[in-house]
Amino acid sequence: MRILIIGGGYAGFYTAWRLEKRLRPGEAEVTVVDPRGYMTYQPFLPEVTAGSVEARHVVVSLRSHLRSTRLVAGHVIEVDHAHRRAMVQTAHGAPQAIKYDLLVVTAGAVTRRLSIPGVADHAIGLKHVEEAVAIRDGLLTAFDEAAGLPPGPERSRLLTVTVVGGGFTGVEAFGELLSLATSLLRSYPEISLAELSFHLVEASPRILPEVTDDPGRWVVRHLERRGAHVHTETQITSARGGHIVLSTGESFDTNLLIWAVGNGHNPVVAQHTDLPVDDRGLVRVRADLRVGTDEAPVPDAWAAGDNAAVPDLTAAAPGALTVPNAQHAVRQGKLLAANIVAHLRGKKERPYRHDSLGTIATLGMGHGIFQYRRLVIKGPLAWLMHRGYHVLAIPTWERKLRVLLVWLSAALFGRDIVALPGVQVPRTAFLAAGDPAVLRPRREGTGPDAEERARELIGADRAR
Ligand SMILES: Cc1cc2nc3c(=O)[nH]c(=O)nc-3n(C[C@H](O)[C@H](O)[C@H](O)COP(=O)(O)OP(=O)(O)OC[C@H]3O[C@@H](n4cnc5c(N)ncnc54)[C@H](O)[C@@H]3O)c2cc1C
Repeated sequence: MRILIIGGGYAGFYTAWRLEKRLRPGEAEVTVVDPRGYMTYQPFLPEVTAGSVEARHVVVSLRSHLRSTRLVAGHVIEVDHAHRRAMVQTAHGAPQAIKYDLLVVTAGAVTRRLSIPGVADHAIGLKHVEEAVAIRDGLLTAFDEAAGLPPGPERSRLLTVTVVGGGFTGVEAFGELLSLATSLLRSYPEISLAELSFHLVEASPRILPEVTDDPGRWVVRHLERRGAHVHTETQITSARGGHIVLSTGESFDTNLLIWAVGNGHNPVVAQHTDLPVDDRGLVRVRADLRVGTDEAPVPDAWAAGDNAAVPDLTAAAPGALTVPNAQHAVRQGKLLAANIVAHLRGKKERPYRHDSLGTIATLGMGHGIFQYRRLVIKGPLAWLMHRGYHVLAIPTWERKLRVLLVWLSAALFGRDIVALPGVQVPRTAFLAAGDPAVLRPRREGTGPDAEERARELIGADRAR
């Protein structure tokens, strides 16, 4: 029996991990295909942007923890389930076919993009650890550059941060970045609190839909008390040239534009398989996580996590689906493994059912909010609960310990505020040794754009 798992993120990693524990020797051969060699613990990404958690500590190496699973570094680009075949694009060469007997689809979602002028050129998502690191370095570098400039439009632009999307990801990232920026002021006497300009833009009338109205309003007041601008019922109409124009008519230049407007469907899952998908591009699954419906199950195909439309058996409303979050993805992954093993052994599969444990969000160092039904906890206690919950939830004891040790060292010595944006262009110093001209900004008044500059440097180097 050959089991193929597409995606080694939350749901895929837990499925493979549990299969390793439950399968008898020789019972099945498991392969995970993922372009990344690690599973990312996304709930810690906002803390990575704030330098409170080390980037490498929020990812779990697949090779270290999946000992008997075959790992393929690549993207699945097409699935022909009728012929039990997936096409995989690796970094080199033509796509390869992987044949399987049983398929697990856990490829997650992608950041939803909207076609607004300038967004594709200037915005950055927050779904991957690389994005979180770039955001952190972007803010730290901006402080370094702003500190050396006289008051004026360029200095204001550098100290402006815009987050679009008032859901969980957007609010947590916004709160954490605001907290980092405020704490940086101690190390940058040249910059004052009044110069920081933080904008959270949300199209709907309220933020954090995961909590009820009153706590949602409290979060807005709380962020505003800390000096932030929260724009509800507002949309971005343009981000051309990094100049933000809002539907209210307000406009400003921003250094960072963080795009957190929610999940978009995984394009491969939605468009390049012969599995049934719903109108949102999610794989249709039954409560036991088998693909298909009760009337028409698809043999040998299972799915879970953010790319699957999993029936929510705890909801009163008929047709309700589980929300795309880690709470569900981890439990679905574990059940998926148990159900596959039961299926292989001719036993009965169990339906997925999980009552929400509530909502908990960080709003920056020492600030948080928790809600479970009518119980609401705000402030430092909620923040401590957030940290406690997530340090226990990140997979493997080794990761828990690493995260905890960084928090402890930060409590003693403060956050690590060193940015290493140079890793994006690591050969700059080497090339500059021969030609200092490469260090010059491209245009008068603007810093070098790392990506373009890297391309220029590589081009210049090849020409030598
Ligand atoms: C910033 C942030 C904060 C969050 N905070 C919380 C929180 O506090 N609490 C909570 O419950 N949830 C939280 N979530 C949501 C939670 O992280 C996700 O719901 C969860 O990760 C979904 O798991 P998944 O396995 O479905 O997808 P993912 O974990 O995204 O994994 C998908 C995997 O599939 C791989 N993949 C994608 N396409 C392909 C392909 N074509 N071929 C092969 N591999 C592919 C990807 O590389 C990835 O490794 C947060 C999310 C974000 C972004």
